[in-house]
Amino acid sequence: MSYFSGYRCTRCGHEYEPDQVTYLCPICSRTYQPGMPLLGILECVFDYAQIAVAWEEFSIAFPSANPTQKIEELCELFSPVDKEYYPNLPVGNTPLICSQSLVGETLYLKFDGVNPSGSYKDRASSLVVAEAKRLGIKEIVTASTGNAAASLSALCAAAGIKAVIFAPAKAPAAKLVQIKIHKAELHLVDGTYDDAFAAALEYSATHDCLNRNTAYHPFTIEGKKTGGLELYAQLGELPDYIFVPTGDGVILCGIAKAFYDLKEAGITDRLPALVAAQVESSDAITSYWETGVYQDAKKPHTVADSISVRTPSAAHLAVKALKATHGMGIRVSDAEILSAQKMLASRTGIFCEPSSAATLAAYFQAREQGWIRDEAKVVLMLTGHGLKDIEAVKFDD
Ligand SMILES: *Cc1c(COP(=O)(O)O)cnc(C)c1O
Ligand SMILES: [Zn+2]
Repeated sequence: MSYFSGYRCTRCGHEYEPDQVTYLCPICSRTYQPGMPLLGILECVFDYAQIAVAWEEFSIAFPSANPTQKIEELCELFSPVDKEYYPNLPVGNTPLICSQSLVGETLYLKFDGVNPSGSYKDRASSLVVAEAKRLGIKEIVTASTGNAAASLSALCAAAGIKAVIFAPAKAPAAKLVQIKIHKAELHLVDGTYDDAFAAALEYSATHDCLNRNTAYHPFTIEGKKTGGLELYAQLGELPDYIFVPTGDGVILCGIAKAFYDLKEAGITDRLPALVAAQVESSDAITSYWETGVYQDAKKPHTVADSISVRTPSAAHLAVKALKATHGMGIRVSDAEILSAQKMLASRTGIFCEPSSAATLAAYFQAREQGWIRDEAKVVLMLTGHGLKDIEAVKFDD
C-alpha cells in the first residue's frame, strides 16, 4: 500500500488530492510561460506518521537488514505509486563506492551510470512510466538534452508504452542511437534544449498522453529522490555534503526531497549540505543563489551537454534546497571537468559523463576554499556513463 496522501504547491502551499492535479499548481502556473523557470511545482506529501510506524516495525523485524533490503523498504514507503505498476526493468540501487585513491582522502562515489539506460534519469522515467500504467495512458512525451530521452525510451519499451521525444539535433550520437533502437518517436528540434522543453509542453497540451518534462511532472522529483534514500541506507547514516551535477536542478531537488521526507518521518534529524556543480556558461541556479535574483544563463556552451540549460525548470525550488540545506552553487570550467573525468577514470575505474565529473571539479574548489570540514562524509553523484559521449574525451598523446 502507498502512504502517498496528495500534493502541496512549493510556491503557495495550496494542497491537492492525489488525482486532483497532474502537473503544476493550477493557481501559480497561470502566469507561467515557456521560457521561464516553472511556477508552482508540486511536491508529493505522504502520511509521515504512518511511515514512521512502518519503518520502526521494519527495523525491529529485520535488525540486521542489509543496505539493499533497507533501500527496497525505504523506496516503497516513500513511493507515490504502488510497486505493482513499476516497469519490468529495475532501476536504482546503484553502487556507492568508498574511494581512498581518488584524492587521498575518503570520498563516496554514487555511480548511476550503471542504470539500464546509463543515467540517473532512469529513476524519474521509471516512476512516470509506472504512473502512466496506473492511469492506463499509452503514450509519454518528454523534452531532453539526451539522457532523459534515452531513459524514457528504454523504460517505455519495457512497459509497452509509446515514447515521444523532443531533443536538440546536436545531442551526443550515442543518446540519439538509444532513442532510435528503443523505437521511440524522435522529433529533432532545430534549436536548444529550452526550445525542446516548450515543444514537448505544446505536444502534451494537444495529445492524449502524459508529459515527463523534468520538474513539470512532480514524479520526476519523486523518482530522483530515491538516490538520496539510497545514500542513507548505504551509509547507515547521513552524509555531510552531496555534490550534484546541476542543469535544470531536478536531481538536486529530488535528493533534497529524500532528506526532507526522512526528517519529516522522524527517521533522521538533519539535512546534508547540497552543492550544485554547474558549468560556467550554464550557471543560472548558482547566480540565482548568489544574488537572490533569477536570470537566464547567458549562453550555455559546454562539453557537459546534460547540464547545459539556459532556463532551469526547477530554478526556484533548487535555490530553496541550497538554502534549506546550507549548501552552495559552484561554477567549473570545461577544462576542469575534462581533467576531473580522466582522474576519475584512471584512479577509480569509473568512466562517467563530463556532467558527472563536474562534481569532482566542484569538490576541489570547495576544498580549496576551506568549505569542507575535516572528517566530513562527502558524496559525489556520478550521474551518467562516459560511453554516452566519447566525442567529449580528448587525448593529448
Ligand atoms: C540530467 C542530468 C543531470 C542534471 O540533472 P538536472 O535535474 O537537469 O539538474 C546531471 N547528470 C546527468 C548524467 C544527467 O543526465
Ligand atoms: Zn501554488
